[in-house]
Amino acid sequence: MISKQAVHMSKMSGKLKGIPAINTNTLTNPFCIRQHQKTGTICPECYSFTMLEGYRKNCTPAFERNSALLSEHIPWDELPVLNFAYVRYSAHGEIINYQHYLNLVRIALKNPHTTFVLWTKRASIVRQYQARPIHGMPTNLILIFSNPRIDKVIDVPRGFHKVFNNVAKGSTSPQNCTGRKCMECLACYRKDSGTDVIVEMVK
Ligand code: SF4
Repeated sequence: MISKQAVHMSKMSGKLKGIPAINTNTLTNPFCIRQHQKTGTICPECYSFTMLEGYRKNCTPAFERNSALLSEHIPWDELPVLNFAYVRYSAHGEIINYQHYLNLVRIALKNPHTTFVLWTKRASIVRQYQARPIHGMPTNLILIFSNPRIDKVIDVPRGFHKVFNNVAKGSTSPQNCTGRKCMECLACYRKDSGTDVIVEMVK
């Protein structure tokens, strides 16, 4: 039996230092496995695959427990109560299924004082919920479409607040994320930041 507050919170480092995250296991996510083979997208370059297969291997058991937990219905009383200003969803991993997305919405609803930010390539799941928002639309959840194409900067697509684009290494096209630390920038973590089209150079 899963105990209360079993969702694992990760302490992030590097660019995300200072922003806690709710992660899942990229390596066992069927969507990520498929995407990882797709040339011409950012997915073969996935930092999460590299880290979880290498120097962050030790994180995979906790991320896998989150994958199992979040892809099933979690009773309201067992959703975590958090004391953070900002939480990143899926710094590792992707939405696994529709139930996973419902749980992320419900965690946001249960923690109205925290801003949650979800990066996802799974626009169809986000829009499926928006067509019938059975739990309502939490105003403290920022949805960022993670554009899989490199060097194809796009505007914010329907159903999202922001878009995250990648440009190739060495690109001279305008970038507003490259080299920055999230905690000092917060462009993605505030709806009113004035920056909704984010561009970063592939690391
Ligand atoms: S734009 Fe700012 S907040 Fe968004 S990912 Fe880049 S550094 Fe982080």
